[in-house]
Amino acid sequence: MKARIIPIVRAVRTTLPPGRDLVAPPEGELLDLRGRRVRDLRISVTDRCNFRCVYCMPKEIFDDDYAFLPRSKLLSFEEIVRIARIFVEQGVEKIRLTGGEPLLRKHIENLIEQLAKLPVEITLTTNGSLLRKKARALKDAGLHRVTVSLDGIADDVFKRMNDVDYAVGDVLDGIAAAAEVGLAPIKVNCVVKRGANDDQILPLARHFRGSGHILRFIEYMDVGSSNGWRMDEVVPSAEVVARINAEFPLQAVDANYPGEVAERWRYADGGGEIGVISSVTQAFCATCTRIRLSTEGQLYTCLFAQSGHDLRAMLRHGAGDEALRREIAAVWRGRDDRYSEIRTAATVLPGSKVEMSYIGG
Ligand code: SAM
Ligand code: SF4
Ligand code: SF4
Repeated sequence: MKARIIPIVRAVRTTLPPGRDLVAPPEGELLDLRGRRVRDLRISVTDRCNFRCVYCMPKEIFDDDYAFLPRSKLLSFEEIVRIARIFVEQGVEKIRLTGGEPLLRKHIENLIEQLAKLPVEITLTTNGSLLRKKARALKDAGLHRVTVSLDGIADDVFKRMNDVDYAVGDVLDGIAAAAEVGLAPIKVNCVVKRGANDDQILPLARHFRGSGHILRFIEYMDVGSSNGWRMDEVVPSAEVVARINAEFPLQAVDANYPGEVAERWRYADGGGEIGVISSVTQAFCATCTRIRLSTEGQLYTCLFAQSGHDLRAMLRHGAGDEALRREIAAVWRGRDDRYSEIRTAATVLPGSKVEMSYIGG
């Protein structure tokens, strides 16, 4: 039977919360060349992963011969905390730990414990494989929330996506463990690649409806240089919303704050919330407040940057806090990135961009 098509209803926008206006920051606040604040710091704690997701770390490239970073090149926890503290002093409100697979970094809970002393929200993005084992320690260390990646609810599709034969049930068990210890609200992220897992959009929606977890669909991006990205493999968010809306009518929800990357929708019958992240079809560079610290201490002002700024060298050559503060401020003030707004066939040529597993998603 054909699904009923119901018009999508957009809710009326309310005013932004006070102090959240990107164009009127508090006096002295750090702004880049396009007037954007620095708000979110993403820290990659490892470039390694136990999955080989086809869109991120394809097996043919990330094989046994792949040169992952040696331990001596990784920032230590002390180095990470020092940089994070300076960022918080400069206006960062949210820190996300990522990778690679962040739960593969030994004693990650010790890092979280130190970061949790800063007056910011601490979150972590994971493939969920080690969550059952680690959820309690993460919560006790002070982690606020987790985002779990899950690219399908059918085992065969999910196994094809992670390419290491990892079962859906184990990720679901990890999500349950995170919920049990209160790492909520949990966001579940699905990258949609046409012809690979777009048949999972509705099954995932059906599964997580009413669960209290927020399912979000991410457009497949041309990040890095190894995934062989093609525009025709991107499923536009508008299509995702239309497909779900045809089965479960949706209503738009206001953003929590300007610059929130996910567009929020809720089931009209009260079944909870979903989100879509339109990184390709509706660029959100104008409100991008993110900066990324790579596993080896390179600072990147854009996910699609071709080069970073070497903070590790400064740290290891004895730079004081003031010098680091000045460097970080100079990097942000000189930031002009808007890759997704100006993406063209020429910009997606392979070979020059850093990998997502290195820079941190
Ligand atoms: N390993 C962890 C995980 O998968 O959640 C954290 C790191 S991963 C690089 C962070 C996020 O980036 C994941 O949600 C992943 O699906 C997403 N990602 C990776 N490559 C992507 C791509 N080419 N396009 C869109 N999202 C991508
Ligand atoms: Fe690993 Fe995450 Fe990349 Fe998948 S998306 S290969 S889990 S880093
Ligand atoms: Fe931010 Fe760069 Fe992504 Fe634009 S392309 S939203 S500037 S990270």
